[in-house]
Amino acid sequence: MIEADVAVVGAGIAGVGAAYELSATVSVVLLEQERQPAHHTTGRSAAMFLESYGGERVGPLTAASRPLFESVGTLLRPRPWLVVQDPAAPASGHDIAGGEVLEALSPAEALALCPVLRPEWTEGAMIERLAQEIDVLGLHQYFLGGARRRGARVHLSAEVLAGHREGGFWHLDTTAGPVRVGAVVDAAGAWADVVATRLGVEPVGLTPLVRTAAVARFAAADPNWPLVGDLAETFYFRPEGQGLLISPADETPAEPHDARADELAVALALERVNAATTLGLRSVSTAWAGLRTFSPDRDPVVGPDPAEPSFCWLAGQGGFGIQTAPELARLAANAVLGGGTRLPEALSAARFRTDTGKALSAER
Ligand SMILES: Cc1cc2nc3c(=O)[nH]c(=O)nc-3n(C[C@H](O)[C@H](O)[C@H](O)COP(=O)(O)OP(=O)(O)OC[C@H]3O[C@@H](n4cnc5c(N)ncnc54)[C@H](O)[C@@H]3O)c2cc1C
Repeated sequence: MIEADVAVVGAGIAGVGAAYELSATVSVVLLEQERQPAHHTTGRSAAMFLESYGGERVGPLTAASRPLFESVGTLLRPRPWLVVQDPAAPASGHDIAGGEVLEALSPAEALALCPVLRPEWTEGAMIERLAQEIDVLGLHQYFLGGARRRGARVHLSAEVLAGHREGGFWHLDTTAGPVRVGAVVDAAGAWADVVATRLGVEPVGLTPLVRTAAVARFAAADPNWPLVGDLAETFYFRPEGQGLLISPADETPAEPHDARADELAVALALERVNAATTLGLRSVSTAWAGLRTFSPDRDPVVGPDPAEPSFCWLAGQGGFGIQTAPELARLAANAVLGGGTRLPEALSAARFRTDTGKALSAER
């Protein structure tokens, strides 16, 4: 029998962050279904830190995460974000909060930053100058190594199959054996609703959306080019090693699964980047896909379940789960430990609950 104060389910960036924060105070067991941590979405991101991205509730979570990234010293590398506009389809950016972080740029300034842009795409350009590229595995290792040093026990190939609460404890049935803990943090990414259901907690209605990325062959890429994306979010690209990381910014709904890149989505990425630039990209050296998982209002879901307070949500991090990981981990840990910063109500699972759902759960 594995015993601890808290079980964190999922060893992606959210789970290791929560384990790191919690293990400073309580005993933690981290349960991961795969043989390796960070196998799913965390290992597949575009690795950007963009304060103006994700909407108005996400911006402050990203900003509050910046000090931890900066304190480590090696986790961020400057990579400004240049936002351009399709001259044929002017649009507003649904996930771009802007505010004071985005600054208007003249076409000449935009072209100076990225000379391969077609000039007509630079009208109305904007820039987030302090955007950064993140060393995602470095952050993951910072959290995981720190949690281990604080005594957290990590179990890989440990899928949570079922669970119930009895006698003041959660009794979890896992592929690594039975687990008994006082509280559970659900950081299972695309599977967070599945895990909740397996534990008898009402799901919040998460939707995993497939996003594809690839590295296009382009030997002459300038490593100093910014991340370039359009306001309507139909593509982005940035230098990556000897080539360019490209994405069609797709959002295809899917069941939780091990996502794979689709050839058509890769072709769309090449086509869209070529339409906005003179790059003339033709092929990619590697491609992948990951599941960006959103709640119904696209904001994260963090904190105790309203019907079962010993079950803490840490889910729905969409396309901003790396850049917000430090602050969301702190908020989740405070929620479990019952102290510290007050959790913003806007992030609570309560916003998705009907009274029927609350009554049903209260009967258990
Ligand atoms: C192409 C792409 C680009 C992105 N770009 C960015 C970006 O630039 N910046 C940014 O901040 N974010 C970005 N994201 C989003 C970011 O990657 C995610 O928000 C983040 O990785 C989510 O982390 P997570 O820990 O919640 O999920 P995951 O990394 O998926 O971790 C969840 C873990 O839970 C485990 N699990 C599931 N069910 C169980 C179970 N029953 N028992 C035990 N374990 C279980 C899974 O195996 C998995 O390891 C991008 C995502 C994609 C796909």
